[in-house]
Amino acid sequence: MLIPYLCPELPPAQKDALHKLVKTPLVYTSVALRNWQAFDKLKLYRVYAPGSYHTYFHLNAHVTVGTYRSTKSPRDPILVHMVRTPCKPGLPEHEQNRAGRAELLSTPFETFERNIRDQLGRTLKDGGFDPAGDITAITVNRWPHGYAPEYNPLFDPELLEPERPHVVGRAQFGRIAIANSDSGGGAYTDSAIDQGHRAVMELLHTVGQS
Ligand SMILES: Cc1cc2nc3c(=O)[nH]c(=O)nc-3n(C[C@H](O)[C@H](O)[C@H](O)COP(=O)(O)OP(=O)(O)OC[C@H]3O[C@@H](n4cnc5c(N)ncnc54)[C@H](O)[C@@H]3O)c2cc1C
Repeated sequence: MLIPYLCPELPPAQKDALHKLVKTPLVYTSVALRNWQAFDKLKLYRVYAPGSYHTYFHLNAHVTVGTYRSTKSPRDPILVHMVRTPCKPGLPEHEQNRAGRAELLSTPFETFERNIRDQLGRTLKDGGFDPAGDITAITVNRWPHGYAPEYNPLFDPELLEPERPHVVGRAQFGRIAIANSDSGGGAYTDSAIDQGHRAVMELLHTVGQS
């Protein structure tokens, strides 16, 4: 999405296509708890909460790495992983992403903290959870440009693969080849690896011809 600013010489149609690759903003929040007795009492591991400030949270998975063993007892400290994708329901997908990004950049930590304490307090209160006593630390990690866009038949026009913005946008331009997960139309690392390989092969082909 930023490439047209780095390379204004690109053809207008390609710049337009690149501008359409709007990423989803993401917030991954970690909350340290003194114990997870409330989760145990309510027999909860993960919570989906559409419309809530964080729409999903779960207890950290049990991890065994080398000699490290994570907690098994509800009396032990643990981390809770919480997810928020800031958005503005009612708008088209990418406009929601842009509105969410603006919100993310202007939201103070105190707003996150208040919402985290409120949401965990309301969800877990029947398990005896007390936000003031049970929460020991909070980190909020914000990605204004998080997941790369993927084709969404709800909002995106029906286009053949060669006409889709990620394909038009990744066209080689002289000695510049374009990689990144967005150029594969997929949010995940496998897309980034595939596109990195494709971009390098384009350059090798160019060198081979000269
Ligand atoms: C919160 C979060 C969780 C994720 N979880 C997963 C997961 O569990 N599994 C999964 O497969 N994928 C996950 N992803 C997606 C994955 O991170 C991306 O698909 C992948 O990192 C994309 O790799 P990339 O090399 O294309 O881009 P990036 O990893 O974004 O790398 C681009 C690099 O370019 C640098 N850069 C930018 N502009 C310039 C410039 N002008 N000059 C020099 N350098 C520049 C940046 O600093 C950055 O280091 C997650 C993404 C986020 C945000």
